[in-house]
Amino acid sequence: MDKSFMLLLAVAILWCGCTDGEGNAGDLFKERAKRQIPKTVTVTTILEQPFAMKGESEALEGYAIDLLAELAQSMGFNYTLHVVKDGKYGAKDQEGNWNGMVGEIIRKEADLAVAPLTITVVRENAISFSTPFMQTGIGILLKKDATSGGSYLFGFLSPFSKELWIGIIVSYLITSLCLFLVGRLSPCEWTDPSNEQNKFTFLNSLWYGIGAFTLQGAEPQPKALSARIIAVIWWLFSITLLAAYIGSFASYINNNTNSAPNIQSFEDLLKQDKIEFGTLRNSSTFNFFKNSKNPTYRMIYEYMDKKKDQVLVKSFSEGVQRVRKSNYAYLGESISQDFVVAKHCDLVRVPEVIGGRGYGIAAELDSPLIRPLTIAILEQFESGNLEYLRQKWWENTCSAQTQGDWVPVQPHTLGGIFLILGIGLGLALIISIIELVCKSKSSANQEKKSCCSAFSDEMGHRFGKTPNQESLEKVQP
Ligand code: ASP
Repeated sequence: MDKSFMLLLAVAILWCGCTDGEGNAGDLFKERAKRQIPKTVTVTTILEQPFAMKGESEALEGYAIDLLAELAQSMGFNYTLHVVKDGKYGAKDQEGNWNGMVGEIIRKEADLAVAPLTITVVRENAISFSTPFMQTGIGILLKKDATSGGSYLFGFLSPFSKELWIGIIVSYLITSLCLFLVGRLSPCEWTDPSNEQNKFTFLNSLWYGIGAFTLQGAEPQPKALSARIIAVIWWLFSITLLAAYIGSFASYINNNTNSAPNIQSFEDLLKQDKIEFGTLRNSSTFNFFKNSKNPTYRMIYEYMDKKKDQVLVKSFSEGVQRVRKSNYAYLGESISQDFVVAKHCDLVRVPEVIGGRGYGIAAELDSPLIRPLTIAILEQFESGNLEYLRQKWWENTCSAQTQGDWVPVQPHTLGGIFLILGIGLGLALIISIIELVCKSKSSANQEKKSCCSAFSDEMGHRFGKTPNQESLEKVQP
């Protein structure tokens, strides 16, 4: 009786355990995993910005250090942290010995490597990696003025957008036309052609507009109120445009000499011989080019191998220094390059990124730490903490202007001045018509005609019949 009761109880407990849902299974796994995690873990890392850097108090700080603290808390272990003795990531020599952080793991000098250590096949055969905590690729780091290829013959047109140039030309033609019309309509401007040559012919109006636009004060000077309104509005328009042009042109020149290197891809690098390029000695980046079957990447490898003493650097920071101080392009992991670009405004990373890869936390082969680490990393990822750390350590300190975000002036920026010009032109035309109506009224009174016929006569004088035609009409009734 007792035995069968015990059996029933055991079955019930087991059944409950099985049906208690995902949460319990997860907890059980965590419990089991925790038991396998040593109380104190030895961790190795490498000094690389912004993953691990020496802070003011000489203590290490950075993305990798924060990540390690989070993982230690969630997995419940203490750790001792040191910087890898030889300052290397890890590569196998000809005798099959590993150096760097990988070597330390293999020789059991460290249990974990928490660093920007790339997951590669050769390393994966020697040590174990957790799931990647960060994705990256291989990019090209350059100095902004490494090759000032952005200047071109018609660069002087660049300060304004195409639409704005079109708007300016159309405005100029309309203004000249209005000036011509006002010159005809306004009695003050228009004199009988038989007595005197009219001042604002269409060609003169075009010339006047150009003169004012270039601040040359071209003749003839307007006398009528309506023509003067056009002149003033056009001067205002011209000055505003000139100020905008000069401002934009200055930043265009500044931007253009600082940036827009002609190198936009790995192929461009090969096509030129002004800039040397290289990468980190024995790095995963170097091996990527070495093992690649892509002809361009092979040629990059051959170049770097041939000039290895000249172009391969010992550390990322040495690479950055060389980029800043000489004609050198550093091929390396884009994520680290993004960091230096965000801090040093004289540097730029070209848009092309190749060879997607990830950074993982390394432990010895088949280490019981790997699975709990993977779970803890996924937890960090899903809680948004990895994203938070990324933003925290990759904060941009280059202002938008120094980063070369220059754009030509667009029509909407100067929309107000176009509006004022339009209003001014409309007003001037109305005033000139009023002036003509007043003149027609007084001549209608003098000549005892209706106001309308005096007005149409005036219009005829100005726009219709030539003086010869008129005199002919008078002679032959
Ligand atoms: N993170 C790399 C490595 O693990 C360094 C590099 O390839 O630039 O070797």
